[in-house]
Amino acid sequence: MGMDLPTLTTLLVSLRLSIAVQGTPMDAFRGNIAAIHARDRAAYLSYYLHTPELARVGPDGLHQGYDEFARTTGDGWPDTLVATPLRILPVSPDVAYGVYRYRVVDTSGSARGVSERVFVRTPAGWKVAVTTAFPTPGAAPPPTAFIGATLVDGTGAAPVRNAVVVMRDGRVACAGPRAACPVPPDADTVSAAGKWIIPGLVDTHVHFSQTGWVDGRPDALDLREQYPYDQVEADLHARPERFFRSYLCSGVTSVFDVGGYPWTLDLQARTAQSSTAPRVLSAGPLLSTIDFWLNLPDQRQFIYMADEATVRQAVRAHKAWGAAAMKVWYIMPPQPPDTARVSALVAAAGDEARKVGLPLIVHATGLWEAKDALRAGARVLVHSVWSAPVDDEFLALARRAGTIYVPTLIVPDGYRQVAARRFERERQPLGCVDPGTRAKALATDSVAPAKRPTAAVLEQRTTRTAQGLAQGQANLKRVHDAGIPIALGTDAGNPLTLHGASVFMELEAMQAAGLTPLDVLVAATRTGARALGLDSTGTVTAGATADLVVLDADPLADIRNVRRIALVVRRGEVYTRRELEYR
Ligand SMILES: [Zn+2]
Repeated sequence: MGMDLPTLTTLLVSLRLSIAVQGTPMDAFRGNIAAIHARDRAAYLSYYLHTPELARVGPDGLHQGYDEFARTTGDGWPDTLVATPLRILPVSPDVAYGVYRYRVVDTSGSARGVSERVFVRTPAGWKVAVTTAFPTPGAAPPPTAFIGATLVDGTGAAPVRNAVVVMRDGRVACAGPRAACPVPPDADTVSAAGKWIIPGLVDTHVHFSQTGWVDGRPDALDLREQYPYDQVEADLHARPERFFRSYLCSGVTSVFDVGGYPWTLDLQARTAQSSTAPRVLSAGPLLSTIDFWLNLPDQRQFIYMADEATVRQAVRAHKAWGAAAMKVWYIMPPQPPDTARVSALVAAAGDEARKVGLPLIVHATGLWEAKDALRAGARVLVHSVWSAPVDDEFLALARRAGTIYVPTLIVPDGYRQVAARRFERERQPLGCVDPGTRAKALATDSVAPAKRPTAAVLEQRTTRTAQGLAQGQANLKRVHDAGIPIALGTDAGNPLTLHGASVFMELEAMQAAGLTPLDVLVAATRTGARALGLDSTGTVTAGATADLVVLDADPLADIRNVRRIALVVRRGEVYTRRELEYR
């Protein structure tokens, strides 16, 4: 069977003409997605059939008609849309089927799904006749392989050059030298030559019940007339997703909320299998040695340790609630009325926690209280000792209790900046901070000038903060040199210690204390995961949860290079840094 030349030529010419005029279904598909990226409503609508038959299908069923579609189009573009890969299957010369996997990120978090188009050929070009979108929140991301990066796997081992990391079903399937990790044929491959891969960062000290500014801490600067505390807290409860995005944007893929309102416990189940939020573990309301006033009328974040029965009951309640730990806020009143009594209550908390199988974690910044917490069996100390140099007794107690020491070095400086009414905005990447929080942080400089402390008071404050940091750093070095495990924790949520974005300052303060970049990295990954009790996280090794970060610069040359994030992976879902940033 043959076709004569003139006929073939005519066909080719007409085909070429038709391509020139109408493009291909793939051109229309790309143009359709590009219009979403450009938030160009007119361009977007031009790709759809302007007929009553236009069909849209989603989880709620079928909707038909262009007019109804056009009415709501453009009401809410996503901050970012990743559509990969676009695939076109020709059905007939005039019909093509298109499909892609989508991921959108907006202030309410991120969503994933599958979207389809049926394109039909019209005189005006290829147009969408049918469009569908179905969320697939539980679906595993496609298998992916990063090829050619230098791997710093979080175990403390020497970096592996020209490595391959294969991820499948949300876990690391293989990580190591190229020869040891063949790339599976079905994997999406990403060239990572010239880049560094580290485990996702773990922040062992955050508070979702706090905003990152003073409106969540009226005890630091009381602005409740402008920012009513109950409203601030209701808003935090309603929208923690904005901080989820800030954490992922900053390379933080697991966090420990070590004290807050009861709803923070719900974040655990919500994020355990998520690829759109960091893994959250929560301690829930904390036991406090002082009867602190900062609670809501109908719920408490501080449970006063009035007597032993109250303490033991609170620990058992935490176990029943599914809390990941029992946190004690060990604050000494200025004139300790009865240290033996407080000491006995903390010991009772430790004893009951041991009985029910909950790790005890303690905020104690004084050497005396910290030692007492270690005697009570504290598994994690979530602040530096700032009052004095740690001594041999402290180190022996920490070693005996198997305690992980979390330095939390930078948080006092946020309070100092608030007092001075000067937000040092260059220290945290504000691209990772949601616009509302960013605006508040930037308002620090002009807020409540009448309540500004005197210059003399501010100078004292600055000196005290610097001395505290120096003491904290010296103690960190001493504790680290003694072989006590160290984990990173920022205390994010406190004023100007911003969720996610503050992690870099803490990393750098740990390096400045004399730890090597590798020591700091292990503290911020593997040991952090241990502090959270997560053995499947914190390293890039076969079997671990596929939480990792791809950097543009060498973190072992300088921990500051952790700021240079190219990609963030949470349970195998690969995000670009840019996609996670707030505009
Ligand atoms: Zn804290």
